[in-house]
Amino acid sequence: MTAADPASLICPDCGPEYADRWRCTCGHPLEFADRPLPDGPAPDPAAFDTREGLWAFSEFLPVDQHVSLGEGMTPLQEAPAWDAEFKLEYVFPTGSFKDRGATTTLSRAVELGVENVVEDSSGNAGAAIATYAARAGIGAEIYVPASVKRSKIRAIEAAGATPVRVEGSRQDVTDACVAEAVGGNAWYASHAWNPAFFAGTATFAFETALQRDWAAPDAVVTPLGHGTLFLGAYRGFRALADAGWIDDVPRMYGAQAAGYAPIAAELHDDTAGTNDVADGIQIRDPVRKEAILAAIDATGGDAIALPEAPVAEELDRLHEAGFYTEPTCAVAPAALRTYRDRGDIDADEDVVVPLTGSGLKA
Ligand SMILES: [Zn+2]
Repeated sequence: MTAADPASLICPDCGPEYADRWRCTCGHPLEFADRPLPDGPAPDPAAFDTREGLWAFSEFLPVDQHVSLGEGMTPLQEAPAWDAEFKLEYVFPTGSFKDRGATTTLSRAVELGVENVVEDSSGNAGAAIATYAARAGIGAEIYVPASVKRSKIRAIEAAGATPVRVEGSRQDVTDACVAEAVGGNAWYASHAWNPAFFAGTATFAFETALQRDWAAPDAVVTPLGHGTLFLGAYRGFRALADAGWIDDVPRMYGAQAAGYAPIAAELHDDTAGTNDVADGIQIRDPVRKEAILAAIDATGGDAIALPEAPVAEELDRLHEAGFYTEPTCAVAPAALRTYRDRGDIDADEDVVVPLTGSGLKA
């Protein structure tokens, strides 16, 4: 492979390699055939130029192009009331961690010579893909439910992307989007399917480890829908541990919304209830469910479902403490409380919790 060749993809389930496809012919999500990974002795943390944002780790990202708006290197902030560190993922150009994946996904789209992308999301992912497509000079259609509130697609339209309203369920929206991509009219810039998105979210782990001088936390607690941050973070920490830059991968703990908790349901019986506060993670069928469960198993982590009331209370606490976040991300610090109550996370352990989206969007 020369530097000019975009990285190829492989099916981890049945093996074939592709120049580019949105999924395997067997239906499985694809991964990069080769990922540039850390190796050699751990560098002096000061060797990384944090002015470059997440692109300080560009040598570990499987793209040569940089479609950038100055994203990443979000603050890692002490949160004494939670006895944890919060990583302020709402400090991103579009106000959510989804920019980590959007910057790498649109970078890959440019490498492949893509002219139009499609994505299905009425939330943070839609806004991120639309915004980075605008930066790349690439057209974007964002498929959204017909019932979507005007306020939720304002950022999509402002970036010059076209919202495509689809009647029916959330799955009908995805199906319509996929039909467009499979039909060859566009490239599927999916936060759930595209491995470039997960390569980007791995920078969450690189940054966290760097900001802690290569001392990994004992545990990380994240919201868990499609697992774009959860799985990216796991892969990033795993790559650092394999290189010996950190001692071990943190235990990965997921926080799901009751009523939409397929991972927690695999692990526990107590997933009843509803949660419409955490509307950003209402995913019934995550594309990478097996990989998420494997990450939990490999790290000794877990996933639990939270009902609405404790998440709403946690959101108030965050706001009162100066963390002006959107409702969905309160699910993670609320889950931390539960994990501590259950004795899964000890009082003397280091915990990092991402605050994933800005309250200015809600
Ligand atoms: Zn396959």
